[in-house]
Amino acid sequence: MKVLLINAGSSSLKYQLLDMKTEKLVAKGNCEKIGLKDPVIVYKHNGQTQEFEGAKNHEEAISRVLQILTNKEYGVLKSLDEIDAVGHRVLHGGEVYTNSVLITPKVMKELEKLVPLGPLHMPANIAGIKACQAVMNVPHVAIFDTAFHATMPEKAYLYPIKLEDAKKFKIRKYGFHGSSHKFITGEMSKILGKPVGKLNLIIAHLGNGSSITAVENGKSVDTTMGLTPLQGLMMGTRSGDVDPTVVQYLCEKKNMAVDSVISYLNKQCGLMGVSGFSSDNRELTQKAQEGDERCRLALDMLAYSIKKHIASYLPVVKKPDAIVFTGGIGENSVETREEVLEGFEHLGIILDKKKNKNFKRGEVQLISSAKSNVKIYVVPTDEELLMARDTKNIVKNLKNSK
Ligand code: ADP
Repeated sequence: MKVLLINAGSSSLKYQLLDMKTEKLVAKGNCEKIGLKDPVIVYKHNGQTQEFEGAKNHEEAISRVLQILTNKEYGVLKSLDEIDAVGHRVLHGGEVYTNSVLITPKVMKELEKLVPLGPLHMPANIAGIKACQAVMNVPHVAIFDTAFHATMPEKAYLYPIKLEDAKKFKIRKYGFHGSSHKFITGEMSKILGKPVGKLNLIIAHLGNGSSITAVENGKSVDTTMGLTPLQGLMMGTRSGDVDPTVVQYLCEKKNMAVDSVISYLNKQCGLMGVSGFSSDNRELTQKAQEGDERCRLALDMLAYSIKKHIASYLPVVKKPDAIVFTGGIGENSVETREEVLEGFEHLGIILDKKKNKNFKRGEVQLISSAKSNVKIYVVPTDEELLMARDTKNIVKNLKNSK
């Protein structure tokens, strides 16, 4: 069985084709700058990268991807019939979707209703689904970034605003990166040899977007992102937590409208805003080592933000089985992990600095000292595999129920 995964943004469409017999990636790529100047389609398979002329809109983009995948010379499919299902990454499932679902006309209507909760991502996600449905007559499945966090209790997901307003307008914490946190929970069950339902974890998914999730008995009980992915940790270009009054203040001082300030907090702040140089952890680490003070400050603020949020979840999950680092920064940045874990020693949570430094990229690593009360792991995430597995399971159940 082959599954095509689609992650549609406003001017991009990322795709991955997986063979679910082996769970191996067959091909992947990205349609970049859709509808903009010089659009391009990148196609990667068998260790090669090719570029093709891009597309004017999402529908053209997916048609071209399918042509590439089935091309006689460089394609990986004999015909489109080999694709059994399409899995779509969807940002927001609101309170309606607590699991991945088969996309029906009713689901499409619900997704439209969820646009106000994700105005930046949802229209593009919906456009991606429609474009694929127009050219592929196979089951389409939606996998929501929010779904894994549907198990949070009220005391964790509610904001302390007037309860009537919170309920009426569904203003609450939803949480994101669900596919990654769920994937890591499954991996940790295998690594520790403990059933998912008995696992207590603190998972730090640190990438361009970052979130930390408290997992108790295998379920998300709190997470740092909120109504939108702007809340919580300092990120590549997102501020994370700020006093809401900052918004009003910025409106006044910079003569900006509220939505412009929200866009500013999403796109111009975080590591980028503080360093004035880059949103990229690797580049900042190098610059900071060369003595750049703003880059040093940005990295110090990042580590401090992660440290505080990890610490805040220690009593939430009672006795954690492990603290897990994942995502581009979590999996790769020796410096960030070391800085984050400094200060936990008096709680008996002890990093083995040598193991942390000598870790093998792309592999599961135990980086805590033998004396540590809580194990600390680096675990590579694979959100796409989780999405492909969900898609496969839904389609399998569909076939069984026929
Ligand atoms: P996204 O959230 O877009 O999926 P990723 O999970 O790929 O992002 O993470 C991107 C971040 O990971 C960037 O800040 C990048 O600098 C960082 N990163 C990747 N490799 C390394 C590395 N070797 N050392 C330090 N940081 C790294």
